[in-house]
Amino acid sequence: MKFSYITHLHCPKCQKEYRYDQIQQLCECGSPLLVDYDLQELKKHWTPSSLAGRGHDLWRYHELLPVVDPDNIVTLGEGMTPLLRMDRIGATMGIDHLWMKDEGIIPTGSFKARGAAVGVSKAKELGVSELAMPTNGNAGAAWALYAARAGIKASIVMPIEAPVITRNECAISGANLNLVNGLISDAGKIVAQAVRDHGLFDASTLKEPYRIEGKKTMGLEIAEQLNWKVPDVILYPTGGGVGIIGIYKALKELAELGWISDKLPRLVAVQAAGCAPIVKAWEERKSSSEFWENSETAAFGINVPKALGDFLVLEAIYATDGCAIAIDDASLLQEQADIARLEGAFICPEGAATFSAARRLRESGWIKAGETVIALNTGSGIKYPETVQVEVPTLEPGERMIRE
Ligand SMILES: *Cc1c(COP(=O)(O)O)cnc(C)c1O
Ligand SMILES: [Zn+2]
Repeated sequence: MKFSYITHLHCPKCQKEYRYDQIQQLCECGSPLLVDYDLQELKKHWTPSSLAGRGHDLWRYHELLPVVDPDNIVTLGEGMTPLLRMDRIGATMGIDHLWMKDEGIIPTGSFKARGAAVGVSKAKELGVSELAMPTNGNAGAAWALYAARAGIKASIVMPIEAPVITRNECAISGANLNLVNGLISDAGKIVAQAVRDHGLFDASTLKEPYRIEGKKTMGLEIAEQLNWKVPDVILYPTGGGVGIIGIYKALKELAELGWISDKLPRLVAVQAAGCAPIVKAWEERKSSSEFWENSETAAFGINVPKALGDFLVLEAIYATDGCAIAIDDASLLQEQADIARLEGAFICPEGAATFSAARRLRESGWIKAGETVIALNTGSGIKYPETVQVEVPTLEPGERMIRE
């Protein structure tokens, strides 16, 4: 048995194929590339029971990951995050089977660790010595830290408005960090120039093919944690869309292996009302999105005005009879507080948006009574202390406690 069943990469737009043993970025037509595996061969040797006794991290699925030699794995223990019942908040929505896949406890504090672990490991395998990327914060933090562990030099450009903690994570990793007085799209242009000037490896979202493979493992884990019975609905906070593209790819691969049925969950792309290009495209039944001008939201990780993989996100929604929905900041921040109060989970604003979306979709009848629903919390609330305003009494020593 081989460690990985990777065979090649292909372009979902023009179908051109590429080798996996050389550095690849975009297809020559400008599209992101997707990774292919020999599923027919793998099917002969690999069953759910093959996973018994393996480590509780995302590398337990190494046959479906692109790293060929286990010595190249760069890990901080990422993956196999909890799938938690959310009965109390679910009851306030009329959803009896509401679950949260909680990425808040993963290394670096956000699910970007998955993409970074697999992306950096593959970069190491291919001999990359220096990478560059633009980021809204969490991806830069994760890639800077995993790159440090791999001994790869990282250059990161992020908006000055990005969560301060992600700036600190990059800085302490020793990365070359630049801030930009602008949006992630401005950071992207600066990185593209640096890539041209210095011949760096471009680790921008979807400009390298392996980040999707890391994020795909969320889909593999959800299926395994539900004992290979998929839920009815999965809600995902969508910025660049890598996670939803990855989850869709994972489910299709599992269906092809025969581990789950062909009826996939309905995938929901949740965006912020202040930055909802995918929602607009979906409402107009388009196959790609347009740049969203003057985007703004407290859910910084999903402030992406135009995603390179928008057509893949929309395909995942259409193919699964899913939908796309926008949530305003006031609603998602209220949901974040309600979840902490009712469930004891301090989740990130992006994750909170998926719960607001579930609430709306149950109200409208799109989610039906009795359906099993999974909301993805993509990061820890602890990374966003500014989303909570604290006004409490301060006592002098010896004073009596004030109780409300
Ligand atoms: C990056 C990010 C997202 C969006 O992820 P994509 O895969 O780019 O759509 C959602 N939530 C958080 C916390 C993020 O950091
Ligand atoms: Zn192409």
